[in-house]
Amino acid sequence: MTMISHDVVIVGAGLTGMRAAIEMGPGVDVAVISKVHPVRSHSGAAQGGINAALREEDSWESHAYDTVKGSDYLGDQDAIEIMCREAPSDIRQMEHWGVIFSRADDRRIAQRPFGGAGYPRTCYAADRTGHALLHAMYEQVMKRRVKVYTEWFLTSLIVENGECQGVTVLDMASGELVAVRAKAVVFATGGYGRVYLTSSNGLVNTGDGMAVAYRAGAPLMDMEFVQFHPTTLKSNGVLITEGSRGEGGILINAKGERFMSKYAPNAMELASRDVVSRSEQTEINEGRGVDGCVLLDLRHLGRDKILERLPQIRDLAIKFAGTDPIEVPIPVRPGAHYSMGGIKVDVDGATPMPGLFAGGECACVSVHGANRLGGNSLLETIVFGRRAGTAVNRYITGRAMPIPGDHHLAAQRDRIHTLMSRSGGERGNLLRHELGTVMNTDVGVFRDEKGLMEAVAKAREINDRAQSLWVMDKSRVFNTDLTEALEMQNVAELAQTIAAGALARKECRGAHYRNDHPGRDDANWMKHTLARWTPDGPELSYSAVTVTKYQPQERKY
Ligand SMILES: Cc1cc2nc3c(=O)[nH]c(=O)nc-3n(C[C@H](O)[C@H](O)[C@H](O)COP(=O)(O)OP(=O)(O)OC[C@H]3O[C@@H](n4cnc5c(N)ncnc54)[C@H](O)[C@@H]3O)c2cc1C
Repeated sequence: MTMISHDVVIVGAGLTGMRAAIEMGPGVDVAVISKVHPVRSHSGAAQGGINAALREEDSWESHAYDTVKGSDYLGDQDAIEIMCREAPSDIRQMEHWGVIFSRADDRRIAQRPFGGAGYPRTCYAADRTGHALLHAMYEQVMKRRVKVYTEWFLTSLIVENGECQGVTVLDMASGELVAVRAKAVVFATGGYGRVYLTSSNGLVNTGDGMAVAYRAGAPLMDMEFVQFHPTTLKSNGVLITEGSRGEGGILINAKGERFMSKYAPNAMELASRDVVSRSEQTEINEGRGVDGCVLLDLRHLGRDKILERLPQIRDLAIKFAGTDPIEVPIPVRPGAHYSMGGIKVDVDGATPMPGLFAGGECACVSVHGANRLGGNSLLETIVFGRRAGTAVNRYITGRAMPIPGDHHLAAQRDRIHTLMSRSGGERGNLLRHELGTVMNTDVGVFRDEKGLMEAVAKAREINDRAQSLWVMDKSRVFNTDLTEALEMQNVAELAQTIAAGALARKECRGAHYRNDHPGRDDANWMKHTLARWTPDGPELSYSAVTVTKYQPQERKY
């Protein structure tokens, strides 16, 4: 049996995972595991920017208020305060590490207005902010000679007596299964956007860490809250950053009307994302769309500004929509984008399972509550990646290396062997398509009981069918047919928690909108949903929201 050891194992090499790794104290033997090369993590695709109250006229308190309001009062206010207070020093540190932030006329870091924000506080590197951050972070990881296992695929957690003692992984290059034991494990495995048929997310975003933690007994929190981004391309869900509206872009319908004036007369296109997505979908549903889309008009910004501030957006629009935004508006529509929910953690990244920590998009602290503000997710990865690192240092101090049994690896060998030895059955890609279609149709921007009941039943059925997939490729080396089958099992697991949470929550809050239960219901539903794995599907329970000083109010933009 193959077993290796590291003091700390971090799964995920996006911003969260690498930031946590950098925080490890001297002498700590840390390894980072990733199914793709670190700079191909989805963090690198982030476009619009990262929030921090940097200017004298702004304040972390006002950032916190905007975030609480954006969360539709479901975010935990203690966690939000920590994030907003610690943001400015983390931004300065990123700049010292070499991130080339765009500059304002006074040569300070430039900041653009973003949705739901009362002040322009989104720092950016043109429209390639994630790319700039991720490369700087990877340089720091290389400088510190952190051990990185690339193209290693997480298959399970090693848990004994309720304590997390490591992970099992598939080394994709050799096809070999490996057990990695550790005093602490950090999950930084990103979001699950690919549960949906169309998504702005990379193909790798299948929520693997969430599914693995959930199966091992860690609770998932607030899974029904899925962010639909207002501006994605129809053909493939590719994102057109909110920064294009931050720079002054407007939304129009088929009649040329700037329709946001009806829905959010003050903030207009820069209302929070849930509000803008619902407004667009209403225009489309009521027949004022253009071929299933609305139009994002950037023409008035002029060629120079588009080329300087939004060069990548222009490229994407030309390549994938055949429109040059300098000349014509871009057709856009709401698309699955971000998972507000995830593995339940505290403000130091600790899950309820001793030895397991999590951060970034796979975790739920919760700083985004029912709706995330643009620019707060990149911030979360860095603030809470760092904090998880600090907490892990404390946790492993004086702790001996665990000695888990061999049966964990043996169980995974059996699982893979069963998948590989089947000579017929359903193909994973077709089942993925079926699941994604159900999620798009029934668990989208607008939801109701009938659709959600169907989705719950269908997700359950698809999950059962996903247990007996047919892997046609029988080779060991880089068998992506096999890893896609494992990903299929993960998305099927998560889809059940999303649909079940949404069916149970009989109110509208943030991104969760029930046609059959209009209005927010603080008396009954200002609480977090927890989903625990059982053989019969998710078991739901609820926990209180932490309120410090912001009492719930009606949300208007
Ligand atoms: C197109 C796009 C644009 C965005 N723009 C912005 C923006 O402008 N501002 C903002 O704040 N947010 C933005 N977001 C959201 C933000 O980028 C992400 O939430 C954030 O970067 C997630 O970082 P992470 O570290 O949690 O995970 P990721 O960067 O997604 O990294 C996940 C890591 O986990 C690894 N992993 C996953 N599964 C496995 C497995 N089974 N085995 C081994 N490794 C595994 C992957 O290899 C990867 O290294 C955007 C998101 C998208 C999709």
